[in-house]
Amino acid sequence: MADIDELQALEPGDLLADRAYRQLSRAILRNQLEAGTPLSVPELARRLNISRSPVREAVQRLIYDGLAANVPHRGAIVSEIKPDDFRGLLEVRQVLEGLAARLATQRATDDDLRSLNDVLEDHARVHESGDEPANVELDTRFHTIIREVAANDDLSTILLRIQGRAHLSRFTLWRARRNTQDALAEHRAVFDAMVARDAEGAERAARQHISNLISRVDEATRAILPGPLSDAVRGS
Ligand SMILES: [Zn+2]
Repeated sequence: MADIDELQALEPGDLLADRAYRQLSRAILRNQLEAGTPLSVPELARRLNISRSPVREAVQRLIYDGLAANVPHRGAIVSEIKPDDFRGLLEVRQVLEGLAARLATQRATDDDLRSLNDVLEDHARVHESGDEPANVELDTRFHTIIREVAANDDLSTILLRIQGRAHLSRFTLWRARRNTQDALAEHRAVFDAMVARDAEGAERAARQHISNLISRVDEATRAILPGPLSDAVRGS
């Protein structure tokens, strides 16, 4: 199991809790800190070379974002997400990503569309290289820009939380190269509708993207867990 030796010491004078949070969440999303890894505040503080209180704050934020969980008598650990939880998250995300794409289409400037296009081009290049963590980051980046352009704070807050947890489970449940290729094509469909200023089309395409993701996850889960999903999850 990868461990906290991967983490680098922080420079003094930074907004330490922010920096610690960013580094820890990144390590979790890149699967350098795997599900179940204990997040010991004294140990992390030593490793990051900062005092305990910003680390404690960062860990609290990870818990709030769903990337970590408090376990009685064990303290905080990196979250583990079961297939059924993941499906539930994606069902909510499907509707909200559709809404975000519709609002973003109505509000996007030419600069916003150029940024999205840049991300799609980077994503296509990275896909060829097969670098899975970079793929996940660019996938996330595409959705992050749409969320920002949609300019609805409540929507952003909910999607951020769901997205973090959903990407976390991508690593714990399934790593499929095919997913990246399909996801990239689906991102392009959202983008094309936005460029055409077709808000309903963008909403439809975004919902379809997440709906396809649900199918791909179900398929991959069946491959990992023999037997019906519900039976496999029960008792785990
Ligand atoms: Zn996506």
